[in-house]
Amino acid sequence: REFKDAGLHPTLLENVELCGYSAPTPIQCYCIPAVLTGHDVVACAQTGSGKTAAYLIPILSKLMGKVKQIAAPRPNPTRYNPMTDRTRAEPLVLVVCPTRELACQIFDDCRRLCYRSMLRPCVIYGGAPSKGQREQLEMGCDILIATPGRLLDFMANPVLLSFSRLKFTVIDEADEMLDAGWEETMEKLFNGSDTNTDADHTYMMFSATFPKAARKLARDYMEEDFVRIK
Ligand code: AMP
Repeated sequence: REFKDAGLHPTLLENVELCGYSAPTPIQCYCIPAVLTGHDVVACAQTGSGKTAAYLIPILSKLMGKVKQIAAPRPNPTRYNPMTDRTRAEPLVLVVCPTRELACQIFDDCRRLCYRSMLRPCVIYGGAPSKGQREQLEMGCDILIATPGRLLDFMANPVLLSFSRLKFTVIDEADEMLDAGWEETMEKLFNGSDTNTDADHTYMMFSATFPKAARKLARDYMEEDFVRIK
């Protein structure tokens, strides 16, 4: 299997090469075609398996195909006036993960894969002042990578953040999120965050183990034909 045979957007394929990924890892071999064909995905994945790229590559490839229509308007940073140019963040993709370290790592991978596209990723996490993160969101956001606590804080402010355009929701390290007591939040994200009435919303869940609560989430919120990757 090779990336160039996967039917990816040419810009994304170039970025994959720039990242130095020469061949897809096993989880990428299963996940990329599943997402490209519009399936929800539940995958058993350890850190180091290439799971981040397994969901970012097909999502970004799909978005790059229609980036002109969908990317958030991007203010010119040199002339950006926060008082007048401020926009509401309306991400197309939401990735939720349990820790700040993981969020920053996903953000880094995402930034490299978004190179020379108009897609703009943002990251928000707790344990740091929210002002700078809020300012980043106000400059437009297509892909939001978040830890759950800070995400809930920001979601409480609909002027700042709206999910009306959301097309992809990814929960990474779902077992860790459940262990940390975020079950209700995950349900809310799978269910209530989807204010986009489009039926073609894709849900993905990645986890090292699948406790009962994780299986229940998949059963309750995903399409019946979701793809399960071991
Ligand atoms: P992850 O499992 O997402 O934490 O990824 C582990 C590491 O593998 C990260 O540093 C990725 O940049 C890298 N990686 C992801 N996909 C590939 C690939 N197809 N070939 C080589 N390295 C990869």
